[in-house]
This record gives sequence, structure tokens and C-alpha cells, in this order.
Amino acid sequence: MSSTTSFAGSLFMVVAPSGAGKSTLVNALLAQEPTIKLSISTTTRAPRPGETHGKEYYFTTAEDFVQRADAGEFLEWAEVHGNYYGTSRIMVEEQMKTGTDILLEIDWQGARQVKKQFPQAAGIFILPPSIDALEERLKKRATDAPHVITRRLLAAGGEIAHAPEFEYAIINEEFAVALSELTAIVRAARCRFAQQAARNASLFAQLGIHAE
Ligand code: 5GP
Repeated sequence: MSSTTSFAGSLFMVVAPSGAGKSTLVNALLAQEPTIKLSISTTTRAPRPGETHGKEYYFTTAEDFVQRADAGEFLEWAEVHGNYYGTSRIMVEEQMKTGTDILLEIDWQGARQVKKQFPQAAGIFILPPSIDALEERLKKRATDAPHVITRRLLAAGGEIAHAPEFEYAIINEEFAVALSELTAIVRAARCRFAQQAARNASLFAQLGIHAE
């Protein structure tokens, strides 16, 4: 399937360099808007302490990942920081058909692939308030080894270079402000005419509104 027009659910992509506070923002959004489902990606990265298979990610081997990518199981996939990450196609499409809104926490390469298949997917880029703040946040996250932090900081510049490809930009300086902006984007996207028409088909028919 190649367009969101037949799906009642909305698709959101939240992209950011590591350390921009993306996961905290997304978790707060999901707590506030429990009808949005977070897609759990598959990755070849090793679990960090405290991460559980099936919760943060589905962890797998590179061999298994490549096999599944070749079989077309992923809606998008990419190599990020030396590991593979991918989004399950069936999960996203099945949920969206039933009207569930889906949020993808992916990188810019994945977002580009999704946008080609789902032009109405809302792309949201989270920016740090400064480069210093980004470095500080990465250092505070003690779960990664120093060489991993350095690699992520270098990669952050590369990720940020793709920010102009996104429709929305949120500067995560004050958490409450950033969260309210993210919520506003989600609510506005849900009110797009096509989404409302797909979600409220009988009302629209009753009112004599016919799709263009
Ligand atoms: P982390 O290893 O810190 O959890 O994630 C590293 C990067 O991989 C983040 O930028 C994250 O958004 C990205 N990522 C996580 N899951 C996916 C996915 O399914 N597809 C793509 N393309 N990127 C992903």
C-alpha cells in the first residue's frame, strides 16, 4: 500500500540527534495521548542495561535482520551508528487500517523512505537549544561508552543537516513548551480533512460530504 488516504490512522515520525531529548518528549506525549501507538523497531544493537526485548526494541542478529530486510518485512530500515534498525511494515499498516495513530522514532534515512510511501506522514524534527547542551546531555547519559558518545556527537551534526527535510521543527529548550508544541502538531494532523473523513466515514456520508 502506498498512500495514507486509505488509512484512518495518522502516521508521525519523530527524528532527532541523540541527546536532543527525543525519547523523554515522546514518552510524555504517549502518556498524554494514550491512543497513539509507538512502533517498536527491530535492531542489531546490543541491549543497554535495563532494556528489554519487545519493549524498547526487538533485538536480533545482523544475519536475521538482513534476511528480513531482503524479504521486505521492513517499511524502512537503515544503518545508524554501525547497527541496523528497521520498522515492521505489517505492524504499521495493520494498526493504521484500524484507525490507530502510529509514532515512529527513527532516523532521517528511515523518515525519507517512509515519506516516499506515506506522503502524509508528519515529519517532526527535535533540535537541541545549542551544541553545548547536546554534548552535555550525551555525556550525562552514562549508559554508553566514551567512544560511543564521541561517535554519536559527530553523527549529530550529520543528522541535524537533514532537519530542513522535515515539516516541523521543535527546539527542546523548555520541556513543557516543547511538549505542548509536539501535542499541537499531533492534534492538528489528526484534524486534517482526509484523516477526519477516513475516521468518521458514516458521519461524512450522513452530512453528504463526498471525498474529492
Ligand atoms: P538508539 O540506539 O539510541 O536507541 O537509536 C539510535 C538511532 O536509531 C536513533 O536516531 C533512532 O531514532 C534510530 N532508530 C531507532 N529505531 C529505528 C528504526 O526502526 N529505523 C530507523 N531508520 N532508525 C531507527
